[in-house]
Amino acid sequence: MSHTPYPSSYYAASANPAPTRDALSDSVETDVCVIGAGYTGLSTALFLLEQGFRVVILEAAKVGFGASGRNGGQIVNSYSRDIDTVERSTGSNEARLIGAMAFEGGQIIRERVARYSIDCDLKDGGVFAALNSKQMHHLEAQKALWERFGYGQLEMLDHDGIRNVVASERYIGGMLDHGGGHIHPLNLALGEAAAVESLGGVIYEQSPAIRIDRGDTPRVHTQHGQVTAKFVVVAGNAYLGGLVPELAAKSMPCGTQVIATEPLDTELAATLLPQNYCVEDCNYLLDYFRLSADKRLIYGGGVVYGARDPADIDSIIRPKMLKTFPQLQGIKTEFAWTGNFLMTLSRLPQVGGLDGNLYYSQGCSGHGVTYTHIAGKVIAEALRGQAERFDAFASLPHYPFPGGQKLSAPLSALGALYYSLRDKVGF
Ligand SMILES: Cc1cc2nc3c(=O)[nH]c(=O)nc-3n(C[C@H](O)[C@H](O)[C@H](O)COP(=O)(O)OP(=O)(O)OC[C@H]3O[C@@H](n4cnc5c(N)ncnc54)[C@H](O)[C@@H]3O)c2cc1C
Repeated sequence: MSHTPYPSSYYAASANPAPTRDALSDSVETDVCVIGAGYTGLSTALFLLEQGFRVVILEAAKVGFGASGRNGGQIVNSYSRDIDTVERSTGSNEARLIGAMAFEGGQIIRERVARYSIDCDLKDGGVFAALNSKQMHHLEAQKALWERFGYGQLEMLDHDGIRNVVASERYIGGMLDHGGGHIHPLNLALGEAAAVESLGGVIYEQSPAIRIDRGDTPRVHTQHGQVTAKFVVVAGNAYLGGLVPELAAKSMPCGTQVIATEPLDTELAATLLPQNYCVEDCNYLLDYFRLSADKRLIYGGGVVYGARDPADIDSIIRPKMLKTFPQLQGIKTEFAWTGNFLMTLSRLPQVGGLDGNLYYSQGCSGHGVTYTHIAGKVIAEALRGQAERFDAFASLPHYPFPGGQKLSAPLSALGALYYSLRDKVGF
């Protein structure tokens, strides 16, 4: 039987102990078969189990093997494109519902952590850091937008204010989201998996779904077994491949890279990020960073369209880190890894149903830690027959990438180059 381990990363090296789960080797029957044990699949499974459904999760590798176990760990509210884009993309009632949900993901994570005693180094506070006045104006508009949707946890930071939270000369100001925060992402996924099992859910690892017999009673096949279910939830995101051709056609896997330094001495760590907030800058191709519980700087950035794994991650990310924090010259990089997120043309998530019993959510385009937790909730609501919020998400348009699967990566890279040039000159 195949065995796919976690990729080498700081998170895999510091993961909480977890059981080795069997691969599926026979025929089972359940209410809902979830494909993928990332946050989307785990969140969906937990909400369903809490409502009395029987759930089986099939995971191709290990719990949190995908983006959920490799990400920057930043709890960022709203979506990869903000609620104003949502308002331009769908009806006013749908936009109102999606806007109201934009701040729910962080709450779901905090509730999960509290209810199931998940040990994942949860810390409050996230900063958006502006590199120029255009980005500062954008943050002011973002604050007004989020406040229009009832969110009151934002605080503008002027030049001195940002210096008090990030020891970098690069930023002219920023915005602090007290409802943002950060976590050890793999330990969050592992804790959620344990919660799923505590409620009677079953997770099979090393069990890629290789075919779905779609129809009135769908059946999901792995190499050595099959799951017959009333519903299937597809949560494979950037790692799904061609299992559901309709989903592959309208999305593009992209890679992004992260490094972790050696542990910093306590004083240096406390001067870099004195309040231990996480930070992302406001560039189109953004840098994001935070401290781990053992005081490493975890620094990410860059996008590889089409998700090829770059040869030397440290040479891509370390110069970015040193540009932000020249004081880290001489500090060693101890871990470097890459992971894939799924991009959509609109940068808004794609949610929907196929055949009446196959549900999916994918493509949160970079900001998915909070959104995926919301997705699980709305999919569970839809399966229970309360589909208003699911339908609001499903009303967002899904576009195919221009040029199809062959040209989508180079065309997107060209578009990103244009936006990053705009970031550089600050217009
Ligand atoms: C390096 C990196 C940094 C990021 N940083 C942040 C951040 O700081 N904040 C933020 O909000 N977002 C961030 N993101 C995005 C965020 O991590 C993702 O949007 C989110 O984790 C997606 O969760 P998911 O469950 O949909 O997909 P994934 O976590 O990718 O999970 C999909 C799972 O499905 C499994 N799978 C796929 N196909 C099959 C199959 N056929 N059968 C069975 N299993 C299958 C995979 O093995 C995988 O475990 C980052 C992403 C990356 C890659």
